[in-house]
Amino acid sequence: MLNIVLFGPPGAGKGTQSNLLINKYNLVHLSTGDILRSEISEGTKLGVEAKSIMDRGDLVSDEIVIGMISSKLDNNPDANGFIFDGFPRTEAQATALDNLLKGKETSISVMLSLKVADDELIKRLLKRGKDSGRADDKNESIIANRINEYNNKTAPLKTFYSNQDKLSEIEGIGSVEEIANRLNSVIDNL
Ligand code: ADP
Repeated sequence: MLNIVLFGPPGAGKGTQSNLLINKYNLVHLSTGDILRSEISEGTKLGVEAKSIMDRGDLVSDEIVIGMISSKLDNNPDANGFIFDGFPRTEAQATALDNLLKGKETSISVMLSLKVADDELIKRLLKRGKDSGRADDKNESIIANRINEYNNKTAPLKTFYSNQDKLSEIEGIGSVEEIANRLNSVIDNL
């Protein structure tokens, strides 16, 4: 199996690149942000709980997102592999993911970490906020909180995966196609 953690700060381009990778490598895309937003639009109990947290730019609890990923893994027993997008975001989530995959006799193949400077991230997110209406993209102080959460809780996962020799850092500035080519060449050389 090919199991990829697509990593990077909010606005790094994980969603865009995931869509290209799932087609090229025939993978299942698991985005915790997308799953949470669909819970919100369906008005589920979980969605109602998550909405105010997400609108502030804080992280949803580990327990909730680990449970979501666990059931998605169970629901896709025949997958060729997975792209984890926006997950894991904390060390507890990364450890849980390793254990879930071990239970299925597989593991993470690589962490592809997209590198983009903060000023570019803020520009991209504000534009997405205008285009899509996403509540957490509209306001510069919420965006700053998300980048802060990323730096404090999520960025340390680069060390977690580099300790397993699985970290690959990719320049996230350039055209969508240029960045896709960089990601493909790392995967093709695994
Ligand atoms: P972005 O990466 O641009 O911030 P996402 O769609 O990945 O967008 O995440 C949006 C929000 O959803 C996050 O700010 C957070 O509140 C919540 N979220 C998504 N994934 C997780 C996760 N793995 N752990 C905790 N919260 C999460």
